[in-house]
Amino acid sequence: MEESQHETAPDLVSDSDPEFLAPDSMGQAIRRGLSLTCPLCGAGQLFRGLLRMHERCDQCRYRFERSPGYFLGSTYINYGVTTLFATWSWILLRFGLQVERWVLIPPLAVFCVIFPLVFFRYARSLWLSIDTFLDRQGALEQRDQDSDFD
Ligand SMILES: [Zn+2]
Repeated sequence: MEESQHETAPDLVSDSDPEFLAPDSMGQAIRRGLSLTCPLCGAGQLFRGLLRMHERCDQCRYRFERSPGYFLGSTYINYGVTTLFATWSWILLRFGLQVERWVLIPPLAVFCVIFPLVFFRYARSLWLSIDTFLDRQGALEQRDQDSDFD
């Protein structure tokens, strides 16, 4: 019969060292942001519906819900990405493919209204992920902090 010296239970994400779970590069933070998963562990889902976020990660207990105004920064991401796409589309189509102005303006105007609505969740997720990466210590404190929003 074989003896095992240190039989260990499989690691649960919630039992893992949070320092180990945190994203170690901006690329990983952005990937977690775009996949709408927990920025700290990358396993839990961020949203429970179309627009409603979970209060905490169900895998590592990282707190997603923040003080009022925290997610205002995500509008900068949303606005920036929308402007970037619209501007580059204009430059490419107008000056590259010689598309007339009157043909370009209506679809780009519709794009500038619809895209930010579709990108809303991704902008929030990216904001939280990038903040988690840049403020690692603050993120780890958020994991352990009890909710003030119950
Ligand atoms: Zn998590």
